[in-house]
Amino acid sequence: MNECLYCKGHLEARLVSRVQAYHGRWYLIEHVPALVCSQCGETFYTPQAHDLVLSLVREAAAPVRIDPLTVLDAS
Ligand SMILES: [Zn+2]
Repeated sequence: MNECLYCKGHLEARLVSRVQAYHGRWYLIEHVPALVCSQCGETFYTPQAHDLVLSLVREAAAPVRIDPLTVLDAS
């Protein structure tokens, strides 16, 4: 895949940060390989990158650090 599904822009391989919910908690996973559209900014993950993220949260990988999360309400 090298073309954006939404705008047909060019996709670039990048390392991104991704948030993932798992069992009611949120995890921030840094340096996840992804394809990012240079035109609209949409981020796509390969099935392998998706599996990598899920295996990290499932295995409760050792945290690099623990950051407090700021929660906002838009209602
Ligand atoms: Zn795009």
